[in-house]
Amino acid sequence: MKTSVILHGLHNEFTLDQMKACIELAEKYGGSFRHVVTGIQITGIEKDDKEKLISELPEGVTTVIHRGVNSLIACVGKGYCKNGQMETKELADYVERKHYGRKTSHKCKIGISGCGRNCPDAMVKDIAFIGTSQGFMLAVGGNTGMRPEAGKILARKLTVEQSKKAVDILVDWYAEHGEPRERMGKLLERLGNPLEGVEL
Ligand code: SF4
Repeated sequence: MKTSVILHGLHNEFTLDQMKACIELAEKYGGSFRHVVTGIQITGIEKDDKEKLISELPEGVTTVIHRGVNSLIACVGKGYCKNGQMETKELADYVERKHYGRKTSHKCKIGISGCGRNCPDAMVKDIAFIGTSQGFMLAVGGNTGMRPEAGKILARKLTVEQSKKAVDILVDWYAEHGEPRERMGKLLERLGNPLEGVEL
C-alpha cells in the first residue's frame, strides 16, 4: 500500500542542501512531490518504507504533526517581495521556535503575510498576521473546514514585538482552554477575546 510523508522545514524554509537530500530520498523510495496546505509532501512511497525515510530526513526537516500547532506558513515579506509592507522572517522564526508542534486540543494553523495580497491565505488560518503600512493586523479563528470562515480581526498596527506577545497569549490560551476537537474560532465564540484589555 502506498503512503506519504509531509515535511516541515525549520523556520518555514528548506535550504538547498535539505531539498537535495529530500529529492534523493524521494528518488530512493520511489516517491514524488506534492504541495499541500501543511507542507511539502513526498507521496507514492511504500507504507513499509515510511519509517526508514523519516529516519533519513536531513537535519532541520521533520514530519508534520497532525494535532496541535501543525502549520506555519509565512511569505517572504518586505525586503524579499516588492509588495511587502512588513518583514515576516523574524516573527515566523519566533513562532517556529516557540510554538510549532505544541499540543493543543485540535489543529492550530498560523499564517503570516507581508501584505494584504495574502499569498499564504492567512485569513483562513487560526492565527493570522497580515502586514499593512502601519504594522501587522491580527485575525483569529479562520479555517477552511466544513464551514470555511475568515478570521475575526482582533488587533491592528502591531509591531513585530507586539505580535510575538499576542501569539504567545493566543497559543497559551488555546492550549489551556480548548476542549477536545475545538478549533480556535469556536473557543473565541465561547470565551471571547483573550486579548481584550491586554496591553501588547
Ligand atoms: S503576501 Fe504580499 S508580501 Fe507576501 S509574497 Fe504575497 S505579495 Fe509579497
